[in-house]
Amino acid sequence: MKPKHNNQNRRTFLRKSALAGALTLMGVGGWRPNQSRANQRSSNPLGLGARDFVPTVALSTWRFGLKANAEAWSVLSKGGKSLDAVEAGVRVVEADPQERSVGYGGRPDRDGHVTLDACIMDELGNAGSVAFLQHIMHPISVARAVMERTPHIMLCGSGALEFALREGFKKQNLLTAESEAEWRRWMKDARYTPVVNIENHDTIGMLVRDETGRLSGACTTSGMAWKLHGRVGDSPLIGAGLYVDGQVGAATATGHGEEVIRIAGSHLVVELMRQGRTAEEACREAVNRAQAMFVRRGRDLRDTQIGFLAMRADGQSGAFALRPGFSYARTLVGGQTELLDAPFLLN
Ligand code: ASP
Repeated sequence: MKPKHNNQNRRTFLRKSALAGALTLMGVGGWRPNQSRANQRSSNPLGLGARDFVPTVALSTWRFGLKANAEAWSVLSKGGKSLDAVEAGVRVVEADPQERSVGYGGRPDRDGHVTLDACIMDELGNAGSVAFLQHIMHPISVARAVMERTPHIMLCGSGALEFALREGFKKQNLLTAESEAEWRRWMKDARYTPVVNIENHDTIGMLVRDETGRLSGACTTSGMAWKLHGRVGDSPLIGAGLYVDGQVGAATATGHGEEVIRIAGSHLVVELMRQGRTAEEACREAVNRAQAMFVRRGRDLRDTQIGFLAMRADGQSGAFALRPGFSYARTLVGGQTELLDAPFLLN
């Protein structure tokens, strides 16, 4: 298994990604080279005072967020909508078999089935979600179809698959030889017991703000590896894995989904921003809340992780995690992209 969290390099606070130069060239100083400065100014709906930051346009979880942000930027830099940008961004990670915690190539449950959770939301509260979906490479696009073509928000399991097939999505085998081999190795001494640890999950959660100030978010995952068949995590749950309020901001979560659900994490982060917290302060307070609840329940925090990303409606952004090792990709107006390490609560 690829070690994802314990890398010393992750402790470096700020690193430039290889993408930075190329992306900067795509649009120095604005969304598009000819855009007026007036259009770049945020509407600052919270009355937060003079802006002392360069607004963020795309924020996404983990190192694979770099490629998601690059794709989102290619939509945004042509004047595209945030909803199209988040969908396009996370689809890159869903389709990549090397990414073993999202979409195609994701690690299976303890019975060897790849089951996917995803949701999408825009600034007006339009939302769509699928949970426990199998055989479809792009659950985020099925979630968007639920949002746009049904009167519902969430479909799950065989109903979600039936809907996807009716909408023209193709049925595919998502279990790659690598993930199957890893599962078979796990089966040898696992005693068939699902285990949460710091390395067997990760989700792409993405928040985007377009040039008109519209916010959207997307969240998609194959969830916890070796989970019980039928387990659904926080990622498809509006308010847990993702929440967007166009007047206030947006948040998304990664890590131990059960702990995020318990505190309705992403909704909590957005509500804290509504009360005036910065994005990072709001994420930190949500992590504190989860940790306090964990401790009250007498649980051991050592081998788990949760992390939040948040973006205010004016483009101010931040992150916070329970443990070290949570990296995220941030793209600013102009296209400069960096991989950052989130501050954390516990060593
Ligand atoms: N939150 C996801 C889940 O619990 C996994 C992760 O983001 O690490 O399914």
